Amino acid sequence: MKVPFYLHNLEESDIERIDNVLRSPFLTTGKVTGEFETKFAAYLEIDHVVGLTSCTMALFLALKTLGVGPGDEAITTPISFVATANTIMHAGAVPVFVDVEKETGNIDASKIEAAITERTKAIVPVHLYGQMADMKAIQAIAKKYGLLVVEDAAHAVESSRDGYRSGHLGDAAAFSFYATKNLTCGEGGALATTDADLAENLKKMRLHGMTKNAADRYHAKRYEHYDVEMLGYKCNMDNLHAALLVEQLDRLDSLNSRRQAICERYESVLGDINAVDFPKVLPGSKSARHLFTIWVDPQRRDDILWKLQEREIGVAVNFRAIHLMKLYRERFGYAEGSYPNAESISQRTITLPLYPKMSDEQVDYVLQALREIVTA
Ligand SMILES: *Cc1c(COP(=O)(O)O)cnc(C)c1O
Repeated sequence: MKVPFYLHNLEESDIERIDNVLRSPFLTTGKVTGEFETKFAAYLEIDHVVGLTSCTMALFLALKTLGVGPGDEAITTPISFVATANTIMHAGAVPVFVDVEKETGNIDASKIEAAITERTKAIVPVHLYGQMADMKAIQAIAKKYGLLVVEDAAHAVESSRDGYRSGHLGDAAAFSFYATKNLTCGEGGALATTDADLAENLKKMRLHGMTKNAADRYHAKRYEHYDVEMLGYKCNMDNLHAALLVEQLDRLDSLNSRRQAICERYESVLGDINAVDFPKVLPGSKSARHLFTIWVDPQRRDDILWKLQEREIGVAVNFRAIHLMKLYRERFGYAEGSYPNAESISQRTITLPLYPKMSDEQVDYVLQALREIVTA
């Protein structure tokens, strides 16, 4: 592979930290998890973080704990990883899609009001590719109609928009530490919120609804009984995964500068190639630069994708529209033509490699290959 799709930035010091946990008696949720939660909350400038096993579980638990359930609708975007809409269904509610902005691929806040019914309970925006959705507009709508806002911030650890970060304006924001995300521990997630009650409930919901976890019992001088207050799940972040995350936080901003530089190099060249377009980062918005995607002729998309692969360039597709997946077509009767901007992106998008370890030579190799392929 000349340019792999993704390489992580874990270092020896991260491995040492996990090594220390392995040599300690305590592997599950404990001190290191707490250390990560405190540090991540400080990084996000938010009051509470709860460590979980995935962003999927963070979205699900937030919806469930905030009271989204059967009979409710939740408004979301068709351009996301399927977890966003799936978790709305897992909570028992119906996902209602709203089309995206042509320029950014983010949910179009100006179209949300038209989708609100008396069953609408929540809005679940996604901060696509690292650029936050228009949270100020979304929060204003939520306030007007008394709706909850749960942000899918899987791409948006480092992001800000209009001075706000992920989780600042919504009721909760869900983060992913999946293998290819900007901040990773292989599999992991977290929920960030300004709501102390939600955070406290989530700490129970992540572990069967128990009032004390193993660390509480282990560190108590005398055994203390736990009670079960609610029907919870099993998705608590353990000390091992947390160990990988703690120090990465210190490096995030410098790694993000490198991502930004790579994107600028991509954009300056692609700006001159007519056959290639790409999402715009808006003024007032700092993108986490999680994914760099391009938009090409829909007739040629798959061909271009395969030709990039033939040249040993790692590629992906983020994302094909959720409403046109078999499950969603069959369950809700969605068909082509429902969300034109989303469908257009779905048919045209290709994700190029983007990670701090990519060299300028590799970026140029991708650009040269792309130029030759699209102009052939
Ligand atoms: C990766 C991703 C998720 C799911 O994250 P997990 O931690 O794997 O559950 C959710 N939403 C978006 C937009 C993602 O990219």
